[in-house]
Amino acid sequence: LLPLQDKVALVTGGSRGIGAATALRLAREGADVAITYVRDKDAAEDVVRRVEALGRRGLALRADAADATEAPGAVGRTVDAFGRLDVLVNNAGAGLLGPLDTLSPADVDRLLHVNVRGTFLASQAAAARLGHGGRIITIGSCMTQRVPGPGGTLYATGKSALTGLTKALARELGDRGITANIVHPGPIDTDMNPADGPYAADQAALTAAGRFGTADEVASMVAYLAGAEAAYVTGAEFAVDGGHAA
Ligand code: NDP
Repeated sequence: LLPLQDKVALVTGGSRGIGAATALRLAREGADVAITYVRDKDAAEDVVRRVEALGRRGLALRADAADATEAPGAVGRTVDAFGRLDVLVNNAGAGLLGPLDTLSPADVDRLLHVNVRGTFLASQAAAARLGHGGRIITIGSCMTQRVPGPGGTLYATGKSALTGLTKALARELGDRGITANIVHPGPIDTDMNPADGPYAADQAALTAAGRFGTADEVASMVAYLAGAEAAYVTGAEFAVDGGHAA
């Protein structure tokens, strides 16, 4: 029996990067997987095809994490399609970096709507549907542990809120056998943060490993937290950051 056999997972922002790697990893471990996306339908459908090639059911949902109806709505649509929900991975996130004096109120709203409100509302909707053994796994950031330079004020604000959300969810849902944990990636080679980008060498130098991580290296931690072996792990933070916080 595979670790996630007969489980259903929803991965927000699952068409590329860490979310896509996570969706595929959970499918390899036996889960049926729904993903959300906003812009790139082709990429989302490609992930679904790869999930199906692994023998699992896949589903691509266009659902903007910034939208107060669509973010929780993706949870209901997953349950409608697959009959249940066992694992929510809150991965969708905006990467709005920049000097403090350049950030407008609209930037603040946008970042907090995607990274915080969307995660809150999806978690709330999932909590209403998860059964015993349910999992809420949120993708935070190494910037919640250590902000290595200027420009991260807004991003670190939003991501740090997710640590509070995670700990409070663990307390709220613990007596139902549901865990909530947060994974903090370091610099990970994705479209959002390419390993050949202009700031890549500086980021790699801030890690103990001296390199970027891969989306699969984050997905592997998410898969562990999703499984039955992690039943006693809740309200906790996990850095997958190459030692960025060390
Ligand atoms: P990518 O930009 O590579 O992928 C983002 C994914 O999220 C895509 O599938 C995108 O699909 C989807 N997405 C974007 N906006 C929304 C939205 N409003 N609603 C729903 N889906 C959305 O990002 P990463 O894989 O790098 O990042 C994933 C998570 O990891 C984010 O929360 C990010 O903050 C976090 N993180 C990343 C780090 C890194 O170095 N890469 C480091 C630390 C944290 P589409 O474009 O089609 O809408």
